[in-house]
Amino acid sequence: MPGLPHRCYVEISRGQIARNYRSVVAAVGPEVEVLGVVKANAYGHGAVEVGRVLEAEGARWLAVSSVQEGVALRAAGLKARILVLSTLRSEWSALLEFELTPSIQSLEELAELDGFARSTGGPIRYHLKIDSGMGRLGTRAPVEAIVAAVRATTHARLEGLMTHFASAADYESPQTDQQIAGFDRICDAFQEASLTPPYLHLASTSAIAYGRRGAWRNLVRAGHALYGYVSPARGSAPNRILEVRPALSWKTKVLSVKEIPEDALVGYGGTFRAPRSMRIAVLAAGYADGLQHRLSSRGKVIAGGKLAPILGTVSMDLTTIDVSHVTSIAPGDEVTLLGSEGEVKLDAQQIARAAGTISYSILCGISARVVRVYVE
Ligand SMILES: *Cc1c(COP(=O)(O)O)cnc(C)c1O
Repeated sequence: MPGLPHRCYVEISRGQIARNYRSVVAAVGPEVEVLGVVKANAYGHGAVEVGRVLEAEGARWLAVSSVQEGVALRAAGLKARILVLSTLRSEWSALLEFELTPSIQSLEELAELDGFARSTGGPIRYHLKIDSGMGRLGTRAPVEAIVAAVRATTHARLEGLMTHFASAADYESPQTDQQIAGFDRICDAFQEASLTPPYLHLASTSAIAYGRRGAWRNLVRAGHALYGYVSPARGSAPNRILEVRPALSWKTKVLSVKEIPEDALVGYGGTFRAPRSMRIAVLAAGYADGLQHRLSSRGKVIAGGKLAPILGTVSMDLTTIDVSHVTSIAPGDEVTLLGSEGEVKLDAQQIARAAGTISYSILCGISARVVRVYVE
């Protein structure tokens, strides 16, 4: 509704996303292209807006998780190449109509795509996903079979070979080195067979940020980093070569402030009992906005420039916090769920730790009803 103030909104800095993208570009150097991963509505930041920022920065490639997400970008007028990380056969006609490029997950799927391309008369470019050890999408066929299957195509054009790491931030595990070695063997076999796809790509944020140069080849797929996050590494990781900052902050408003006496119960289930008389504030945000239910009696927000603990259960649309120590707070005041007020900071990683989840899930969990506001 025009004119109404936002109860609960996120503020997203286009400039910060642009700076994060430039940091990734600078980190990998001029020989390596940077694809911007904008799946899941750009991790909650808005795929169209983020896609526009990246295009303006010169990004030639974006990636989405589904054909539907790709179509939405085209409908908004985005012109970059769009890699769709997985597709259904029933979505393939939309690939052509909207000029989307599929990632292909098996040799059977490849043969079917080739047949589909033949039936439509045109070549279709695709990227073949290798399962180098993640055990999720991608072909695990022997390399000779992969080469033969690619050779057998007549209308599907191999544009890229790709794989994805399972443990890229874990320097206690040999898994990433093993995955790189397996992928390299396949690339070598392709070269021997004189098959030279224009793009070879393995790395996402962790393999970029910790400088795993052997995984960069000529394209990297950056998601989390664009939004200002690098997951902490496990074990003895090299120093980070990437500086990025969060581009999103999340705010809501105070609906009500009141005093409660010692022993008063707060919220569903009466799970919090006031150990003394307290001042509490009720916020206009709950789990329906993406404020995790798991933060009940565990999370914090920033109110009046101070950390304020969540009291009791997070409800669907409401959350109660302790503001006994906050000198002045009143209905209508703004509270920060994620972001900073002065020196006090709360980022998705800290929230994730309190909620027992990962920062990706906190960002993607900010629900559709939370208004997205863009600033420069
Ligand atoms: C999500 C995803 C990425 C991006 O990962 P980040 O850790 O967010 O950089 C890259 N590649 C694939 C295949 C993905 O699914």
